[in-house]
Amino acid sequence: MANNDTTLSEFPSQVFPDDHRQKPNAIDQLHRVTAILAHELRNPLSVLQAGIDLMDDDANDEHSLKKLFQTQVQQMTRLVEDLLDLSRSADGRVRVKRRPIDLLPRLNDAIKSVEQVVAQRNQRITINVTSEPLWLNGDPQRIVQIFTNLLSNASKYSEQGTEIVVSVARVENDTIEIRVCDHGIGIDAEDLAIVFDFFSQVKTSDSLAHSDGGLGIGLGLVRTLVQMHGGSAWATSEGIGKGSEFVVRLPSCEPQLSDQGRDQSVEPLVPARILIVDDQRSNVYMLNALLEKLGGHELRSASDGATALSVLAEFIPEIVLLDLGLPGMSGLELAKEIRQLEHCRHSLLVALTGYDDDQLRAEATAAGVDLYHLKPVSMDLLQQILRRRRIER
Ligand code: ADP
Repeated sequence: MANNDTTLSEFPSQVFPDDHRQKPNAIDQLHRVTAILAHELRNPLSVLQAGIDLMDDDANDEHSLKKLFQTQVQQMTRLVEDLLDLSRSADGRVRVKRRPIDLLPRLNDAIKSVEQVVAQRNQRITINVTSEPLWLNGDPQRIVQIFTNLLSNASKYSEQGTEIVVSVARVENDTIEIRVCDHGIGIDAEDLAIVFDFFSQVKTSDSLAHSDGGLGIGLGLVRTLVQMHGGSAWATSEGIGKGSEFVVRLPSCEPQLSDQGRDQSVEPLVPARILIVDDQRSNVYMLNALLEKLGGHELRSASDGATALSVLAEFIPEIVLLDLGLPGMSGLELAKEIRQLEHCRHSLLVALTGYDDDQLRAEATAAGVDLYHLKPVSMDLLQQILRRRRIER
């Protein structure tokens, strides 16, 4: 079977000039700093995300505090992810894991992830789509990332109350074309060629531009990811004040019987015995509170490996939620110790960490970790984990 994994090294670097790429120390430093920054930001983001999930909400109030905070945390989380991808793209470590997927659920996920920011700006998204199946060989998370970036730009660079139109159609036999059209500030003809360059923030006198900050990374990542899927992306605009259209073309593939990996499960959650291991009290507190809200679970917690092992002397957890950066015995060492315990052989070991690192993932798997999830931890993620227990064990 063909290898569907692609790394950026197959494509020319658009980030760093060649001479820069020959200085591994500078790139190593960049990776180190962004990895530490991401880790340091993911922990507080996790506490904030849990706090938001615990807040009551009025579903009819588009401007509720909960929705306002959720939008901000999503935006910060996205910035952290984009920054890491930028760092990875400096030496070709951006990866996409492709498989046949149905495009439309991923477009809906992207629309969902911007729906609060769009609603807060009294904007609306309309989607026009042909009825035929639209499948492609793609990385589901990356496809969502591409369209989330385009949609959040369409909202950010448009006035309140405007409409964003997403059109999806098959062009030629084997290509899907997705157009994201807004009625916003538009782009000058000579800037159209550079908007996809990293750090190219087009100068404009319009007060909407940059009102929400932004690193100038999003479109660079969009182009990179689209190219890694064998597609192309470009922008058109009639000029300043006349709106913009971003076009993405991706090669299609034959529809499959089912889209593996999409969790359609609506089974009720079954109470579980859960051990939380994290040295940050705020994380333990919030995980406890979220799990209590989900109801019925028997919970224990520990702030380091030794305490965790003493809890395990008389507690048989079905799930262990494990922070990897523990003081003293590391999370990986603890995972190995837990796997040695006869009564924990069937426990689901879940790493919840701020470190997004391929090597660490591999080491965690070798140490006996079943699932590796990045913070922030949301109520949704905990529900997924609780459901996985039933599927995997
Ligand atoms: P950021 O939005 O963080 O500045 P991006 O890489 O996403 O960075 O976009 C680069 C630049 O392209 C933006 O700064 C903006 O000037 C321009 N741009 C992106 N999307 C739009 C849009 N929908 N309408 C007008 N200009 C846009």
